[in-house]
Amino acid sequence: MITRIDQLLAANERYAAKFSKGSLLSPPTLGLAVLTCMDARIDPARALGLEEGDAHVIRNAGGRASEDAIRSLVISSLLLGTREFLVIHHTDCGMLTFTNDEIRDQIRQNLGADASHVDFLPVADLDASLHKDVEAIRSSPLLPPDISVRGFVYDVRSGRLREVV
Ligand SMILES: [Zn+2]
Repeated sequence: MITRIDQLLAANERYAAKFSKGSLLSPPTLGLAVLTCMDARIDPARALGLEEGDAHVIRNAGGRASEDAIRSLVISSLLLGTREFLVIHHTDCGMLTFTNDEIRDQIRQNLGADASHVDFLPVADLDASLHKDVEAIRSSPLLPPDISVRGFVYDVRSGRLREVV
């Protein structure tokens, strides 16, 4: 039986057969880092015209400026020289559909586990969450103050970015 992962491995064989970018260096050539949602409908490379080696892409549920996202941005900028960050949230995001209490209840009911200490960073308002996350990055004492941080909402229906902050 051929699994989904086997299909991916076959695709990787085809990719590697034509691969010609083995001499790229680790620092992103465009000096860019993108923080966005893990949503399967967003393809940052295609939506932004990026190629291998161009930019860091950090993804999590919601594209939120969590502690771990900021950890990655610190490494991106301090060690690998990025100077411009894009934060991209999106329409119809799954993070708009639940509250912390709801997901904690679901975990308690399904798994008997206590998630009361976890903030899942749900979103009530896209523009507000974007402002909050851009501000969290801009004000982080762990990041250089001269970094440009811009926030956008990606529309999953049109494929277009709208600048918010
Ligand atoms: Zn999302």
